[in-house]
Amino acid sequence: SPEVLGDSLIPVINRLQDIFSQVTLDFKLALPQVAVVGSQSSGKSSVLEALVGRDFLPRGPEICTRRPLVLQLVKLPSGGPAPGSAGGAAGAAAAAANGAPPAAGSGTQLGGGAPAAAVAAPSAAAAAAGRQPREWGEFLHAPGKIFTDFERIRQEIQAETDRVSGGGKNISDKPIRLKICSPNVLTMTLIDLPGMTKVPVGDQPSDIERRIREMVFSYIREPTCLILAVSASNTDLANSDALQVAQLVDPEGARTIGVMTKLDIMDRGTSAVSALKNGVVPLRLGYVAVVNRSQADINSRRSMADARRAEAAWFDHHSEYSEVAASCGVGALARRINTLLGAHIRTTLPQLRRQIAEALEARAAELGGYGEELDLGSDSAKSAALLQLLCAYADRYDSLLEGRCEDMS
Ligand code: GDP
Ligand code: MG
Repeated sequence: SPEVLGDSLIPVINRLQDIFSQVTLDFKLALPQVAVVGSQSSGKSSVLEALVGRDFLPRGPEICTRRPLVLQLVKLPSGGPAPGSAGGAAGAAAAAANGAPPAAGSGTQLGGGAPAAAVAAPSAAAAAAGRQPREWGEFLHAPGKIFTDFERIRQEIQAETDRVSGGGKNISDKPIRLKICSPNVLTMTLIDLPGMTKVPVGDQPSDIERRIREMVFSYIREPTCLILAVSASNTDLANSDALQVAQLVDPEGARTIGVMTKLDIMDRGTSAVSALKNGVVPLRLGYVAVVNRSQADINSRRSMADARRAEAAWFDHHSEYSEVAASCGVGALARRINTLLGAHIRTTLPQLRRQIAEALEARAAELGGYGEELDLGSDSAKSAALLQLLCAYADRYDSLLEGRCEDMS
């Protein structure tokens, strides 16, 4: 089933992503992932947070997301003690081998997800120690540093954003990579992107609109990228930036899911039912509606659990949505994404394999072009190698000179 497929395959894909983000720049694999697009303040970061079930993203009425955030969610087995091996925070492989909890300094350079086998293997020693955090985050720019306080994750995202894009309102296309391991998430990779705006504010350059759109396109143009097109329900769907850019790169609608936010603040007398039933701007994969926290809820520190209860209660109270219940709420969205991602990976896997094989072949050919490897094991071997190089050089110089002399004569 796609659920099982997603569970086994997505961790492997996540690990590949980690590895490829560290190797040569010119070798970019289009790995399956989910990007969130939409106008500024349409609720993109709120949707992502809701999918994770924790507060950790800068959100608010102004520009908050100023760098792409590549977010790897790794599901830990729920119930029993969370194996430190699962999901590959620092030193997943090492942890899997020796049963150590994720700890500072144990990190492999990859900071990578554990192979699927390791994810499934609970570690007895670690369980006995009982020291693992149930949920934690780790940034690729700070491998080995484990964050268990999600408020600290938000601060780190803000600090990392300021470090590269400055403390003002400017943006940067350099992604921040964060991995979150938790029993409460579904394994998938999500990308939070700056929202689309029209008018430069603060220290933003005059061409900010074009820059943000290009950044968004650079992610969603990949045929392997699922697009969460977020539109606020209190604006006309025909005006949606999200649907507009999604249509440009995915005219067939084969990989675009519509997400409608802010159902709770629609004009009285209007409802999103017809849009959810695909009656306004039809999408092949359809729409999911969510109710997230308002700014007042955020200011009063309403908890995520409370927000989810409020969402369920909201849909209960609005019986007009009962006919589209299957496409309402954050849980429905998470399940939908996971199923689609699993199916998507299955269809793109052959192409991925071909891409890797081609890149490998090209590198092997390049390596062949550098000639034979020199033995530099000992001092005498080094001298011999140097002598060999000098002789080759002298021969070549001689033949060049001869060529010249012949030309002159
Ligand atoms: P982004 O710019 O697209 O990432 O949007 P944010 O997630 O930062 O949200 C922008 C503002 O809209 C915040 O003040 C949120 O509290 C608010 N917001 C987001 N979703 C909802 C929703 O479903 N209902 C209500 N009432 N407010 C929301
Ligand atoms: Mg945002």
